[in-house]
Formats: sequence, C-alpha cells, structure tokens
Amino acid sequence: MNILLIDDRKIDRELIKHALHNAEKHFDITEVDNSSDGLSQLQQSQFDVVLIDYQLPKMTGVQILLELQKQQQAKDIVKIIISNNGDEDLMLECINAGAQDFLLKQEVTPRHLARSIKQSHKRLELEKKLYLSYHQVKDLAEHDQLTGLYNRYHFEESLRTLLVNQRSKQGHLAVMLMDLDNFKLINDTFGHAVGDKLLVELANRVKSNFREGQLFARLGGDEFAFVFTGIEKVSAVFAIANRILALFKKPFDVDEHQIYCQTSIGISMNFSSYIQMEELVKYADIAMYRAKNKGKHQFCLFEDDMESEFLRSFRIENELRKAIKSNEFELYFQPIYKSQTREICACEALIRWPSGQTTQNPNEFIPIAEQTRLIEPLGRWIISQAISQLAAWQEVDSSLTIKLAINLSPLQIHDLNITKVIQEQAQKYQVNPNKIVIEITETALLENNEATVDTLNAFKSLGCSLALDDFGTGYSSISHLLLYPIDVVKFDKSLLDGALTSEKKRHVIEGLTNMLNSIGIRTVAEGAELMEQADLCENMGVSSIQGFVFAKPMTANEVYQQIKA
Ligand code: C2E
Ligand code: MG
Ligand code: MG
Repeated sequence: MNILLIDDRKIDRELIKHALHNAEKHFDITEVDNSSDGLSQLQQSQFDVVLIDYQLPKMTGVQILLELQKQQQAKDIVKIIISNNGDEDLMLECINAGAQDFLLKQEVTPRHLARSIKQSHKRLELEKKLYLSYHQVKDLAEHDQLTGLYNRYHFEESLRTLLVNQRSKQGHLAVMLMDLDNFKLINDTFGHAVGDKLLVELANRVKSNFREGQLFARLGGDEFAFVFTGIEKVSAVFAIANRILALFKKPFDVDEHQIYCQTSIGISMNFSSYIQMEELVKYADIAMYRAKNKGKHQFCLFEDDMESEFLRSFRIENELRKAIKSNEFELYFQPIYKSQTREICACEALIRWPSGQTTQNPNEFIPIAEQTRLIEPLGRWIISQAISQLAAWQEVDSSLTIKLAINLSPLQIHDLNITKVIQEQAQKYQVNPNKIVIEITETALLENNEATVDTLNAFKSLGCSLALDDFGTGYSSISHLLLYPIDVVKFDKSLLDGALTSEKKRHVIEGLTNMLNSIGIRTVAEGAELMEQADLCENMGVSSIQGFVFAKPMTANEVYQQIKA
C-alpha cells in the first residue's frame, strides 16, 4: 500500500513512519515537508492513502482537502488528517472537506494508525457507493427514460433557477416549446414501438446540433422544450428556431421506414424581469398553439394580445361543449343558383349558433371545434340534421331535384368512418347519396396520404359529389385538382371581390373557369353580392352562383319556400 505523508516537522514524520513500520501491514511511504510538494506528488504518482498534517506553513489541512476535491485522480485516495488540535469543529470541517478520518498526533500508535487506515478505506468505499446511488436516483428523477433527455421536473427546476440568475445578467432568456405536428398519425400508422424509436432518433438529432450543456428536455409525449439564456436580440431566437425547424427537413430512419416528421415551436421571453417560470411556460404553450393554428411547421413568439385571444378561445371552447350537450345549434341553408337560368340547383347547409355568448360566427367557432375535436359530435349532428331535412323536403315533394351541400372539416375527412356515417344517415332517411355534395377545403388534402384518397373515392362510390371549397385563397393547388376526384370547385368570395374593377381578376376567374370546365369540373362562385357580379360570372362560364345578391342563408322552411317559388 502506497502512502504519502505530508508534514513539515521532521520529528512528527519520524513518529508516524515509526508507527507505520511497526504495524502488521507493509506500507511504502513517500514523505514531503510542504503542501505544494505534497500536491504535486499526488498528481504525479499513485497513492492509496495520504496522511496530512493539519498545520502546514502555507496551507491548512482543509485547504489541501478542498484542493484535492478538484482533482479527479484524488477521488480514490484515502485522506486522513493528523492534527495537534482536537477541536471538534475542526474535525467536522475536515470530514466535510473530504477526509475519511481525523487523528490526534498523540493518538498515533501502530495499531491505531493501521486501524484508522483500514476503516478509512471502508468509509471511502461506502462514500463512493452512496455517491453512485445518489446519482442514479437523481438521474432517474431528472431524466426521461426513453430519450435520456432531461424531464419536465428538471426542466422546470432549472428554468426557475435560470430565471433568478438571469435577473443580474445581460440579455434575455427564451423558452421554446416544441410539439410534433403529426406524431399521432405516425403512431397510428407505424405503431407505438416505431413512434418511440422516432422520438429517440429525433432527440439525438436535435441534441447533437446544440452544444453540450444546452437545456433541452422532453416534457412528455411528443413535447420538448429548450431554454436559451443571454439573448440580446429577438432575431437571435428566431435564428435558433429556424435552425431547429431545418433539422426536420430530412426524414428519420426508423427500422426500415423513412419517416418525415414536422414540428411547431412556441417561444416566450422574459421581457418583464419578474416573470415566473409557470407564466413563461404557459406563454410558450399559447404561442405554440398559435404556430399550429397558423398551419404548423413554424414558430411563433408569444405576444401580449395572445393571452386574451387564448382566453377567448378557451371561453368559446367551454361554451361549445355546453351547447353541444344542450343542442343549441341550428342549421341554415343558402341556395345555390344555376348561373344561366337562375334556378336553385342546390343549397349549402351552414351551421348557426344563436345562443353563442362570445361568438356566433362559424368562421370563429368551427376552427375551435376542430382544434378541440368537438367537431366530431357537432359534425355528426350537422350531417344527420342536414340529411333528415333533405328527406323532409322530399317527402313533401318527391320530384325535388336539388342537391344538398354539407361542409366537412379536415378532421372529419381524416376520420376513417366518415363515409359510413354518411351512408348510414342516407339509408336511415332514405336519401339517395347522389343528392349529397361533400364540401372540403384544401387543408384536408394537405396530408397527402392514401387514406384521404380512399375516403374521397369511397364518397364517390357512394354516389356523392365532391366540392373543393374556398378555392382561390391559400393553396389553390392544381395538383389537388388532378390528384383527387373533385367534381365542383367553389371560388372563394375574395376572388369575386373587385372582379368588377380589376381586369386581372376577371382574367383569373375566366381562365380558371375555362381550365376547370375543360377537365370536367363544374364551378360555383361564392359571395356574389351584386347583380353585376352574377352577370359577370354567367358571362365567364361559371356554372353556379351563391351569394347574398340572390339569397342569404335561411331556415329550412324559408329555403323550401324559395325552392318552390
Ligand atoms: P363556406 O363553407 O365557404 O360557406 C360560405 C360562407 O360564405 C357562409 O358563411 C355564407 O354565409 C357566406 N356567404 C355566402 N354568400 C355570401 C355573400 O354574398 N357575401 C358574404 N359576405 N358572405 C357570403 P358562414 O355561414 O358564416 O360560414 C363560414 C364558414 O364556416 C363556412 O365557409 C365554413 O367554412 C364554415 N362552416 C359553416 N357551417 C359549417 C358546417 O356545418 N360544418 C363545417 N365543417 N363548417 C361550416
Ligand atoms: Mg362551404
Ligand atoms: Mg367557401
């Protein structure tokens, strides 16, 4: 066993060496008479034990122990302090600084010293075990088991500390919440085992693009979070967010699959210095939902008015929930006219919510119903109500030829059961499905997957027609027209707005109409408010017109009067 003895007094060194020589065990002893020689010996050679005189000329025993704490190789060395002073506080100070034992010089006898060395060895071993298991427990408590990233607990605790520290520092702190856009679909398509592996791949890819020590955590499910400190400019945060988004451009290799996955990011910053951790996370969350609403795969920075907007959505969501339970909705119908004969050829079912407190506007509550999946029960009610209404009209007049258009939201289109629901309702009310027009928006077609094509084809097989709503806003993609079995394209009101004064717009409408007609797609112009607009549409070859110039949405009875008139 190799022992280093550090003591400035020769007589004391002799005393200790004598005790060691007379012990039963054999010891190889190296001796030095000052602290700096001692420390350099410890760095150069391997020792099992170091015996340190507490009172050295330049350093105390505690100072040496603290110095040794910084040195990795000293962790395995047994440290024993030998002192002339038996003060209890001093002893505790030495133990706290890492000594395994504290001996008085007058106690140094062969037996006593040998026993102290043996016990100190054992103590060091136990300390190391304890240290290890402490770290294992800490690790478990702070890390996500799947990805190895920090978990929500560690993230929140660290953010709390960083926020306090940041107050005295330059720059701002930014929290980024990242939520995958299509993880549920991936899980449903490939199974949960693949979903889990994807999360691991993704965590590794993102992590390897940041420096060591970057706070990056998995908060749960498909939600991740970052904290960045020392931010001088908002543009720096945007650059980071763009860098993260760019990491999702390439697919992830999981088993034999190549999976494309995208993400939305919400960002909040500590613009006020006393903002709390919880608020900052909540704001990033609100911004993240905003990023999702704006079309996903983008980032969004929290701004003050978002909270009131968020609260408004939250209120509408709660009101919707109650309204669905107590059946507070009505279905109105707006006639659609053949442009040449100005006869009613169809009508579109449009939902109304007369008791809505915060809003009654479908453009506002339908998107909220979608985000919260409340559109599922609401959509079922709309389908059933619309079809039963058509049946009621047909019962009065069996020769009725008009078609009924029903709006389906993207979420409904992605429900694999949707065609069955329509079929069942049509059967129940004895309505021929060829009387039903399904209106979809292009957002439903963006997730270009086979299931969507299958659903649309199933509608066609049933006999329903398909109308692409709101064309001319957003994507207006030609490939959607070629890829999907669309029968009718409805031009959005915005296309018609200004058509009377803008030659360019007229050319666009005319060109689109000609192109669509030539591939067998009929056209409907929405939002005609003036007779001149209706005439223009007629002249340009648009098949049908829907607009306030002829009729606003109205009750079932009112629309029936119009049809019969
Ligand atoms: P949309 O499907 O494009 O419906 C046409 C909208 O344009 C209706 O608004 C209609 O009232 C309005 N409109 C028609 N002609 C004119 C006009 O000449 N001038 C003006 N200013 N507006 C006109 P509404 O009823 O407020 O519905 C708005 C949107 O809410 C609908 O747009 C549709 O996307 C959604 N929505 C309405 N009802 C339903 C429904 O039952 N299910 C689903 N999923 N969405 C619905
Ligand atoms: Mg519509
Ligand atoms: Mg529309």
